[in-house]
Amino acid sequence: MNRLGIMGGTFDPIHYGHLVAAEMARSEFNLSKVLFIPSGKPPHKDRRDISEAVLRFEMIELAIQDNPAFDISALELERKGPSYTVDTLRVLRRTWPEHELYFITGTDALREIFSWREAEEILTMTEFIGAARPGFDASDFLLQVQQEHPETQGRIHYLEVPALAISSTDIRTRVKRGLPIRYLLPEPVRHFIQQYGLYTTEGNVF
Ligand code: ATP
Ligand code: MG
Repeated sequence: MNRLGIMGGTFDPIHYGHLVAAEMARSEFNLSKVLFIPSGKPPHKDRRDISEAVLRFEMIELAIQDNPAFDISALELERKGPSYTVDTLRVLRRTWPEHELYFITGTDALREIFSWREAEEILTMTEFIGAARPGFDASDFLLQVQQEHPETQGRIHYLEVPALAISSTDIRTRVKRGLPIRYLLPEPVRHFIQQYGLYTTEGNVF
């Protein structure tokens, strides 16, 4: 059976942490494709100043254009209201019936998955790949899963990747402070940020 990787997130902006996690997951789990799905209104984020969806979407396009195994979906942007992973997975199961789904997260997001809406249901629909993220050790979480959620046996995977302490928050802060962001994200994305003056002022609506 083919395997489809799913990489959800705000991607404000997309950076090498996302790309490395997706690429290592693709290779390690033999995924035929990884679909980047930028969220509309993320239920877990209280930031009101998230960049416009079109801008985040375009930055992802620029970042993945040279990888034939990477693709992007506007499915969460087209939906009204907050994006819930469970709804996204229902759509993907219908769209990709011949595929097993693998949801890729960093270990920070992995540790939170049981707080997601309809978590039990989610775990019947997709496997999880948690890519190592500096500062977010997952070993306690994985032990706890073994003990408290034996039904998920073998469906939550930890993936060691060359760890990158890069975050979108840090990139936004750097831009605001006039600090460099080169080498933290693909050059076309950096140029895009410059061109549109993203993240430059406090409370910027972009
Ligand atoms: P923000 O700082 O705005 O939260 P972020 O860098 O955490 O941004 P998100 O869009 O929140 O990026 O993350 C999308 C997904 O990518 C999440 O599953 C997150 O854990 C994962 N991810 C982000 N950065 C990294 C990284 N450096 N290494 C591994 N996974 C990452
Ligand atoms: Mg995040």
